[in-house]
Amino acid sequence: KGKAKPAGKKQKETKLGMRATKDGDFSEWYSQVVIESEMISHYDVSGCYILRPWAYAIWDEIKNWFDAEIKKLGVQNAYFPLFITEEALTTEKDHVEGFAAEVAWVTKSGSSDLDRPLAIRPTSETVMYPFYRDWIRSHRDLPLRLNQWTNVVRWEFKHPTPFIRSREFLWQEGHTAFATRGEADAEVHTILDLYAAIYQDLLAVPVVRGVKSSKEKFAGALYTTTVEAFIPHTGRGIQGGTSHCLGQNFSKMFNIEFETEDGTRAHAWQNSWGFTTRSIGVMIMTHGDDRGVVIPPRVCAVQVVLIPIPSTKLGEEARAAMAARAAEIEAALKTAGLRVRVDDRDNYTPGWKYNYWELRGVPLRLELGPKDMEAGVAMLARRDTGAKESVAWADVAARVPQLLDTIQSDMLAKAKATLDTCIEQVTTWEGFMAALERKHAVLAPWCDEESVEEDVKRRSAGKDGENKDAREATMGAKTLCIPLEQPELPEGTMCFASGKPAKNWALWGRSY
Ligand code: AMP
Repeated sequence: KGKAKPAGKKQKETKLGMRATKDGDFSEWYSQVVIESEMISHYDVSGCYILRPWAYAIWDEIKNWFDAEIKKLGVQNAYFPLFITEEALTTEKDHVEGFAAEVAWVTKSGSSDLDRPLAIRPTSETVMYPFYRDWIRSHRDLPLRLNQWTNVVRWEFKHPTPFIRSREFLWQEGHTAFATRGEADAEVHTILDLYAAIYQDLLAVPVVRGVKSSKEKFAGALYTTTVEAFIPHTGRGIQGGTSHCLGQNFSKMFNIEFETEDGTRAHAWQNSWGFTTRSIGVMIMTHGDDRGVVIPPRVCAVQVVLIPIPSTKLGEEARAAMAARAAEIEAALKTAGLRVRVDDRDNYTPGWKYNYWELRGVPLRLELGPKDMEAGVAMLARRDTGAKESVAWADVAARVPQLLDTIQSDMLAKAKATLDTCIEQVTTWEGFMAALERKHAVLAPWCDEESVEEDVKRRSAGKDGENKDAREATMGAKTLCIPLEQPELPEGTMCFASGKPAKNWALWGRSY
């Protein structure tokens, strides 16, 4: 009685972990996993979320990579104001019609009404282009290629979901102007390829590149290209990032005119392109499991977590040796250019720490226990597969980077294999509905008529479900994109929905 706690006795540990399962209740799983992994905190304005450091670190990786890539292309960063006058916002009619319902306005300062209410940017075409008009006078001023990293606000009506659909989100928006359509077209695709690379090479998420239908294109654009991802658990496609050719629509409205080489006047050809924090949500949905998020090595803030296991039986000296060995391994891994963390908190058990880092999705765990100390090895455990291997200390700094590369490519390969099983190629309405029923996306020959797309959406919608999940499971399907990579379309192929001659293969699905 009254005995002091033995040294090293653990404090009471909080219980960690997920309650919902990904297969059992996907939307509950997602809500829990973003909180439990310490990526998101809720805020008391609906649709606005706090991105905690664990999530922001991923955005930083995306940002650093993409920023360097666009600078190589000659794009420069700038910053334009958050507010838009009503006059500027309404200059391009199609554009404002597309955004009007989602624009948030500032109408007061203190207790007095503003003379002119100010819109908060939902996107910055109308902020930037009046200046493009002033700055672009001659063909020598072209191309003009600017980008900004900012927040935007869209007062969405659809159900908000962390990362995926929020009312304020972070993005980059590129706005460029060229003398010729050829240059603008080429850039649209270069940027689209970079967006695909963020998904595939950084986030290990497969995407389909394509062009949006005229119904789904950006308000005011000539055409929109997109990278589309797909969430197998919900059977819904999601627009992953968009690169628009605005044509001369905006340059005509904003009078962005220049003198050509032969002395005539012409309107500039413009593009705009945007990529948002939605991508982080797509990554979480793609890779996460019942133990938490799984983050690909290239974007995870911590690539290897090192957990020494100083059992209470170990003497002072043995503990010191273990700590020293952990520090040495840490140093070697840092020298190899990796992001490493040693978790030597003494108020948590090793088991608790395993859960903690699994929940947060660290790709690789390195365990160093008493037996490992005797044998001169460390145990490596993969987050994605759970596979373990023992590695001699001398080999750790060489083996870990290899293993991280393997994890990165295995995660993409696994997600790609799943995606491939989720896209069905069909030619009939019955086939189309059956595929949707299986929660799949559908590649089908299409006449490319807007009224037919509207009709498909109506015909493929189920009865109003009682709850959100049921409603979403039976919402109408739309075109996700017309994939750039097209299967062969034999002469005489008919549209699966209208029976008219098909012009292309379109990818259809329920979507976010
Ligand atoms: P847009 O300027 O409309 O082409 O949007 C650019 C990209 O932003 C889209 O391709 C989506 O991936 C993403 N996005 C659109 N709305 C939201 C939202 N409410 N929250 C997060 N990302 C969004």
